[in-house]
Amino acid sequence: MRPTGKLHLGHLVGALENWVALQREYQNFHLIADYHALTTNLDTFKLYQNSFEMLIDWLSAGIDPKISPVFRQSQIKEHAELHLLLSMLITSARLERNPTVKEQVRDLNIENISYGHLGYPVLQAADILLYKGDVVPVGEDQVPHVEITREIARRFNAQYKKVFPEPEAKLTKFPRLPGLDGKMKMSKSAGNTILLSDSPEVIKKKMSMAVTDPQKIRKNDPGRPEICLVFYAYHQKFNPSEIPQIDRDCRSGALGCVECKANAAKHIIEYLKPIREKRAYFEAHSSEVKDILIDGESRARIVAQETMKDVHEAMALG
Ligand code: AMP
Repeated sequence: MRPTGKLHLGHLVGALENWVALQREYQNFHLIADYHALTTNLDTFKLYQNSFEMLIDWLSAGIDPKISPVFRQSQIKEHAELHLLLSMLITSARLERNPTVKEQVRDLNIENISYGHLGYPVLQAADILLYKGDVVPVGEDQVPHVEITREIARRFNAQYKKVFPEPEAKLTKFPRLPGLDGKMKMSKSAGNTILLSDSPEVIKKKMSMAVTDPQKIRKNDPGRPEICLVFYAYHQKFNPSEIPQIDRDCRSGALGCVECKANAAKHIIEYLKPIREKRAYFEAHSSEVKDILIDGESRARIVAQETMKDVHEAMALG
């Protein structure tokens, strides 16, 4: 994940929950992609603070750093070296076709994409392959990048020697959580998020402004839950047991949007309660969080260095 500040519900339901669920089944590695953050923001002033905030969100959501190392990409130089070597194995035309970068260029109004931004998926391939990852739990927008990683791994193995597995993306049931404004994706740049660290008051307020069925103007108008994101995304995820009732009452006009959104907010607040409590602990124990990062970085570095030995040997470098 890129350290762009505090995490939102999309990060949680699209990726982070899967990380927590998978950490006892697999050996997980959790990377703070601080080099990647530079692709869309060159200002490094807040990079460390943002990385720290994000790590607190991970720990609060249930990442156990004793079993899953957490680390910053920039502190393990092997990421940069492998990125360079892998960049020889893919064409610029292939990278220009990448739909995720096209989407970013459109959403952020980027006129001239940088060489580094275009190479985003190559650096991501290095991030994954350095740990010989075979499963990559991500949201839907990252699937094209995992596909590029597979292509690069295949190319490396065929050109030199089999060093890398071909990783597969693993999605959750909510691989693209929509934003409160009705946009396809909740994202910080769109300003349509609920943060994991938002207070109950803020969540209630933000939810009250969520977009619903535009044809349901008055409380008693019959609604269409299938096109209402409060229903098909937020209630579906955070309040599944009331789904049949809400569906019936929305269609009949017995349930108005104001009440329905307040109910969704209540369930989101409840869902985030344990995360909020753990966050308060980690915020009060920041030196513990720093130690967790240093420990994760030294453990991840050992694995990265081992992989680079295999790469050097396969390529007859050195
Ligand atoms: P990013 O902040 O772009 O580095 O995203 C970190 C992870 O969260 C990636 O696996 C994304 O696919 C996932 N993610 C981000 N926003 C959403 C969203 N709205 N819905 C589902 N997954 C998301």
